[in-house]
Amino acid sequence: KLYNQVQDLKGNIRVYCRVRPFKPGQSNTLSSVDHMDERTITILTHSKNGKEARKAFTFNKVFGPSVTQAEVFSDMQPLVRSVLDGYNVCIFAYGQTGSGKTHTMTGPKELTEEGLGVNYRALSDLFHISNQRKETISYDISVQMLEIYNEQVRDLLSADEIRNSSQNGINVPDANLVPVSLTSDVINLMSIGHKNRSVCSTALNDRSSRSHSCLTVHVQGRDLTSGNILRGSMHLVDLAGSERVDKSEVVGNRLKEAQHINKSLSALGDVISSLASRSSHVPYRNSKLTQLLQDSLGGQAKTLMFVHIAPEYEALGETISTLKFAERVA
Ligand code: ADP
Ligand code: MG
Repeated sequence: KLYNQVQDLKGNIRVYCRVRPFKPGQSNTLSSVDHMDERTITILTHSKNGKEARKAFTFNKVFGPSVTQAEVFSDMQPLVRSVLDGYNVCIFAYGQTGSGKTHTMTGPKELTEEGLGVNYRALSDLFHISNQRKETISYDISVQMLEIYNEQVRDLLSADEIRNSSQNGINVPDANLVPVSLTSDVINLMSIGHKNRSVCSTALNDRSSRSHSCLTVHVQGRDLTSGNILRGSMHLVDLAGSERVDKSEVVGNRLKEAQHINKSLSALGDVISSLASRSSHVPYRNSKLTQLLQDSLGGQAKTLMFVHIAPEYEALGETISTLKFAERVA
């Protein structure tokens, strides 16, 4: 309810910020974060003459380093549940590599119950609510998992073991769309997806930080009295790292990757900022990512841009550029 009240005032785009804790053993590291409260983060900067300066950025919500996965999800729950009422939802995790995007969306490498990220919690919650409503609405829930790397789309659920049970994908007809009804189904599929994703990466060349990964949840509900059908979808996107790569230092494939990432992240920023300012032209065609998500961005669809901040002072340059990106789309 609260979500919808705020919505009416603010439109369908919200921007959240999460600050990662320092890593173990980093307790004496200087932080770029001077102050945080529920909606504002103040960054410590230095001006040209070396003087300390501060700059504040405001969000719909700021999550500090001690906020748990459960607390983050509970804030997003109304947004997630609206999918069962037929809304289209996009949730993006944005930030430099190492800022905590995958932690938020998936969880830490060694997954524990408390560590489970938004992807698992969202699906569990959808299963839970659809079960509560089963006397009145019959829901079918299915998922698709894609990767966008160098502006090419790849199906992460193309393994033989799931091919048989699947239907045609959304927007990408030859991608597998797999019916799910239990959290354990989702955990299995995600682990297949992660395996497929890492096939092309080496330790030195971590591809996951340079591709976008998109878990799409498709919901179809049939009203048992009227027979009416409603459809909703949710895209949960772990974006490529937003760090600027020094063009003078990279060549060949690395340069091509960097250019594709810059292009697609700025295209995403352009789309969201033109939606936020209610501009009549929305430039969806400028990247694969925005083309793919076109029907879930704008109109009645709900968007959450979740930006991630690394607290270390060394990361200040990237932190400021992340916060400026967030400011532009808000
Ligand atoms: P990214 O996906 O943006 O590259 P990761 O999610 O992989 O970043 O985070 C980098 C490291 O920091 C991981 O080891 C992750 O588990 C840890 N981390 C990130 N955010 C948090 C958090 N909120 N609480 C605890 N550890 C975190
Ligand atoms: Mg990651």
